[in-house]
Amino acid sequence: MFIDTHAHLTYPEFDLDLNGVIARAKEARLEAIVNIALDEEARRKARSIAAEYPGYIFTAVGIHPHEASTWTKQTEADLRLFMKENKVVGLGEMGLDYHYKLSPLEKQQEVFRRQLQMAQELDLPAIIHSREAAEDTITIIREENKGGLKGVLHCFAGDPQLEQAALEAGLYISYTANITYPKAEIIRESAVRVPLERTLIETDCPFLAPQVFRGQRNEPSYVVKVAEKIAEVKGLPLADVAIATTKNARRLFGLLS
Ligand SMILES: [Zn+2]
Ligand SMILES: [Zn+2]
Repeated sequence: MFIDTHAHLTYPEFDLDLNGVIARAKEARLEAIVNIALDEEARRKARSIAAEYPGYIFTAVGIHPHEASTWTKQTEADLRLFMKENKVVGLGEMGLDYHYKLSPLEKQQEVFRRQLQMAQELDLPAIIHSREAAEDTITIIREENKGGLKGVLHCFAGDPQLEQAALEAGLYISYTANITYPKAEIIRESAVRVPLERTLIETDCPFLAPQVFRGQRNEPSYVVKVAEKIAEVKGLPLADVAIATTKNARRLFGLLS
């Protein structure tokens, strides 16, 4: 009924009660979770989590723009080896983060381009993070899309130009529970505009708990709150949003039902 397309289950926040978290996800009628692993330790953890919940938790790997400065040839070799030895459903998250600027901007751009190229070469969806970097994100997607790019703009913040460019490139737009925050009118307006056939839902947990649980740890079961808000602003039954976003996620990440 629902798929959380972006969770970070390898974070220490989930070390003590992952079983309970997954039980609650199943109770909330989640059908699958895409678990995003962003460094070597996370990849190791993600591998064992995926093995523990086969057909339920799937793995994506990549280098976050925060960590772009750590990228070397070896990083790419490590990613490729992991993808060869393990089932991976997406590449990312990758992209640009000009809010924190934890890596030099040129390095972020270089590593984003490289991962977009890899995603197309390996025919994997690109999971794209873009924060306060709409213009450069648009330019890089346009320049690197050789026609075979598929993917998602995750944790979408509502920039209309970026939204338009992503839709033109055939990408999906994914919303987190920040769509439930009182000040997030710009995100809700985006959710109204973006066609349901291009909409995905995610938690980005442990971050960004929905308004009702704000300040607490977020977890996959709360993705229902994202679907509820999208249904509300679009004026649709929740079931329509659940069915469409689940179908979209299965198609994009190649998850068999
Ligand atoms: Zn992100
Ligand atoms: Zn994330």
